[in-house]
Amino acid sequence: MFGPTPDYPLVESYINPNPDQTFYIAGPCSLESNELTYEILEKISPFITHFRGGVFRAGTYPSDNWGWKLDLLKAAYYEAKLYGLKNIVDVLDIRDIQNINCYADCFQVGARQAQHFALLKELGQQPKPVFIKRGTNMTFDEIMGSVEYVLRGGNKHVAIIERGSVSYLDHVRWELSVSMIAKIKQMTNIPIIVDASHGSGVAGLVSSLTLAGIGAGANGCLVECHPRPKESLSDAEQAISIEDYIEIYKKVRVVAACVK
Ligand code: PEP
Ligand code: MN
Repeated sequence: MFGPTPDYPLVESYINPNPDQTFYIAGPCSLESNELTYEILEKISPFITHFRGGVFRAGTYPSDNWGWKLDLLKAAYYEAKLYGLKNIVDVLDIRDIQNINCYADCFQVGARQAQHFALLKELGQQPKPVFIKRGTNMTFDEIMGSVEYVLRGGNKHVAIIERGSVSYLDHVRWELSVSMIAKIKQMTNIPIIVDASHGSGVAGLVSSLTLAGIGAGANGCLVECHPRPKESLSDAEQAISIEDYIEIYKKVRVVAACVK
């Protein structure tokens, strides 16, 4: 284990037992309907390792009212299983862990929850992988602290997702930190995933920024996609089509092979 010092030992995480494995995580921002889940999985399944779709979105305003949709999660979980895929689900609240646990292979901790230490501690008690998104203002030390909360509970199955920072730039919603990816690779053995969807908030930049992250050593990518991107109920500005995701997948394979 490590404390708040600049000298981080290489932190071990079991999650990526095969160093050549690349995570391909994709799906809609929100599980909107079972029909949408089935349509996406049918098209995308050969090109992903993990299906991801939120059931409780962290809306900025309570009136966004995304609500709890356990039935949509159940259907997505079993449908992903039919394709031999794992699923990843965002968990916002300690009280939801048990319910989500029944229908999730992996937990995602959203950027706004990345320093919800009670939640992280609780996930440290779980036997499943935890993917922590770096908060939009978190430093390297701070994300390491969040990782340590999970590791100290005994759960060594931790990965980090780089999803961009707040910045003064106005051509993007968030600024992806490629240097954070390189730094995490340099200092730890924790898998790091590039999320250029939230890492820019701009659909047209998702492809090039995903490749930049993979070029910096990321172990995989998270991409939000939708058969009709403009109709996405959440994060429509950054959603790309399934066809565009598949093009990214093909390029990521090439870049990842070069980097390794
Ligand atoms: C998401 O992954 O859909 C999401 C809301 O991401 P973040 O927590 O990074 O904002
Ligand atoms: Mn989203």
